Amino acid sequence: MNNFKFYNPVKIIFGKGQIAELANEVPKGARVLMTYGGGSIKKNGVYDQVLAALSNNTVVEFGGIEPNPHYETLMKAVKLGQEQNIDFILSVGGGSVLDGTKFIAAAMKFEHGDPWKLLSEKATYKATAAVPFGAVLTLPATGSEMNSGAVITRVETKEKLSFGSPFTFPRFSVLDPETCFTLPPRQISNGIADAFTHVMEQYLTYPVNAPLQDRIAEGILLTLIEEGPKVLKNPSDYDAMANFMWSATMALNGLISTGVPADWATHMIGHELTALHGIDHARTLAIVLPSLLRYKSEAKKEKLLQYGERIWNITEGNEAERIEATVQATVNFFESLEIPTKLKDYDVNRDTIKEIVDRFQKRGVKNLGERADIQAEDVEKILEMSL
Ligand code: NAP
Ligand code: FE
Repeated sequence: MNNFKFYNPVKIIFGKGQIAELANEVPKGARVLMTYGGGSIKKNGVYDQVLAALSNNTVVEFGGIEPNPHYETLMKAVKLGQEQNIDFILSVGGGSVLDGTKFIAAAMKFEHGDPWKLLSEKATYKATAAVPFGAVLTLPATGSEMNSGAVITRVETKEKLSFGSPFTFPRFSVLDPETCFTLPPRQISNGIADAFTHVMEQYLTYPVNAPLQDRIAEGILLTLIEEGPKVLKNPSDYDAMANFMWSATMALNGLISTGVPADWATHMIGHELTALHGIDHARTLAIVLPSLLRYKSEAKKEKLLQYGERIWNITEGNEAERIEATVQATVNFFESLEIPTKLKDYDVNRDTIKEIVDRFQKRGVKNLGERADIQAEDVEKILEMSL
């Protein structure tokens, strides 16, 4: 096992009726900026529950944060927050609202000009402070509710970049599975695929003799495979939603990455597909992951065989056959969620591959993957396998 530091300060408040707990968690007397998305919270009663719990606070609202939150929109919230002397932010919605809130919180305290530098020049400009914030999560997927990372899109330049800092952990996250009963099937499928891929990025690398981490990762994968279809069939199945929701949180809260290598190349490549074509985040992962596993099958051989056997019961055939059957089982799983896994399914062709490779070269992005051996030309080959 590799050396590690593990720090996760996020308080999770989980279960039915727990939005009322905001009354105890949001600092008394705080002027609260309540951030939300395009209006789903107004249709399912979450908005009313939040306002009822915050009846003793001054609440300033900022709605309209879009999926793949836009820097351009978030900067308006930064201005509003500063004008209104906001001292606490409450994110109410999915991963996009929460990621956007992390950016707003850090940008409000940024003292070096344009806060976009937190993403575009992150080696130089790190967040050194942020307005404290909490979350009410309405969509299991990203794990953003229990981590310090965020992914932000700049529309003007079609860039989608990430940042994170010790200051951008939520103080708390309320996870009430009932708030997710209104999720459309597409968002449930996306959530399952995103959480699944988060686990794969931290598990499907090379072995470092860390059986506990492996088994926790496998436990999350198996739970997603078991509970995901139940949620899709009946989004009001409380227990299935609760198990899915907790799995998505556990998939990216730092626990399974302790002491093990991590890949993240699938996410890095996927972000470019979203930036250029607006393809849903999770769908980009379902396009990239199978090709990446095939392309790196030699370097990932031991873990692929373990994953195939323990998750998909693949034990027959020689190693190459078992690996191919394992990748195909992963593809079949994504497709069973009605997520197409080929670029052509999204009308994306070779021109986009060239553009992504160009962008990686221009931005100096290289050395992706757990062995830092994926270069721009490898990205090209991986994407060609996804055509
Ligand atoms: P999302 O973009 O937050 O939301 C997708 C859609 O679902 C929105 O239209 C939203 O509508 C709707 N929605 C949310 N909750 C709902 C509910 N309970 N009922 C009905 N509709 C609901 O989706 P997401 O998958 O959570 O977030 C994706 C973003 O997170 C991407 O930008 C991705 O890159 C990022 N991400 C972050 C991390 C991280 O660690 N921070 C990890 C992976 C991905 P409204 O707008 O109307 O609310
Ligand atoms: Fe993700």
